[in-house]
Amino acid sequence: MISIATPVYNEEKNISELVQRIKNACEETKENYEIIIVDDGSSDNTLEYIKKIHEKDKSVNYISLSRNYGHQGALWAGLDNASGDAVITLDGDLQHPPELIVKMVDLWRKGYEVVYTVKNGYEFKSKPLFYFSKLFYSLISKISDINLSFGQSDFRLLDKKVVKVVCDIPEKNKFMRGLVDWVGFKQTGINYTPPNRKYGESKFKISNYVNFALDGIFAFSIFPMRLLLWAGLILSFLCLSYAFIYIVLGIINFVVFENLFLPPGWASIVVSITLIGGIQLIGLGLMGEYISRIYLQTKRRPDYIIRECSL
Ligand code: UDP
Ligand code: MG
Repeated sequence: MISIATPVYNEEKNISELVQRIKNACEETKENYEIIIVDDGSSDNTLEYIKKIHEKDKSVNYISLSRNYGHQGALWAGLDNASGDAVITLDGDLQHPPELIVKMVDLWRKGYEVVYTVKNGYEFKSKPLFYFSKLFYSLISKISDINLSFGQSDFRLLDKKVVKVVCDIPEKNKFMRGLVDWVGFKQTGINYTPPNRKYGESKFKISNYVNFALDGIFAFSIFPMRLLLWAGLILSFLCLSYAFIYIVLGIINFVVFENLFLPPGWASIVVSITLIGGIQLIGLGLMGEYISRIYLQTKRRPDYIIRECSL
């Protein structure tokens, strides 16, 4: 059996087409299937629509979360509760074409345990977002031990072995994209061109993407802290050299010119104080990022809470 897990948040206009297209694709694979739609605290009629479909068709199930936990929380809810031999996660806004399920299942039958997807020709909502995304993927691949290519998303197939491994990792704020790469297994990717959203609008603001990227970086890399250590070392060295030069100049000034020329001094003092202050603040901020993660981890709060579910 295969499971399809889809997070939705205020997607009432997409639900019926979504379910129909997923069902068509699943039928084509000739596998038994279950569809799990995770309602991430929608405020429109999304949940009612899914319930109506479930009444008529028991292969379509719902999980309703107690509030809006965000795309990642909803995805984990789907993965944790799926019971298929392979689980496919895809967005509920039809930007992840359900027809690709057929190809994914084919590759899974050939022995691949992870089939991920890479977007090509994707139209970004804005130019800055495009550059930001490119920067994020190249940065995280360089400064951590995971390797993510540009254009990845949470549209993928995972064998049940992989699902168990990633779900059992007791980490808060799990960065699914990173973890799936990190756990290894036999992986392959397929390319696709995502269509634009037909109905509804994107729920992600630029700040969501920035937070998501920071979560990814801080969950998988201690490089920022190391960078800080290096910056501190280099800066201390520069300041010491600077001090040394000024002592020598001071002596020359005193002995040779009999104190005739006085170095202005102010600018250099102010610059060095503010520079060091700035670096210290960055350092505190970075440490705060890691410490806040330890703090969240120790509280052991769940990533989502289920209100009701048909499984
Ligand atoms: N989504 C969710 N919870 C949220 C925000 C989004 O479950 O808090 C769902 C949304 O309904 C969609 C998917 O996550 O199915 C991707 O969201 P969206 O299309 O808004 O993101 P984008 O494709 O613009 O990055
Ligand atoms: Mg989308």
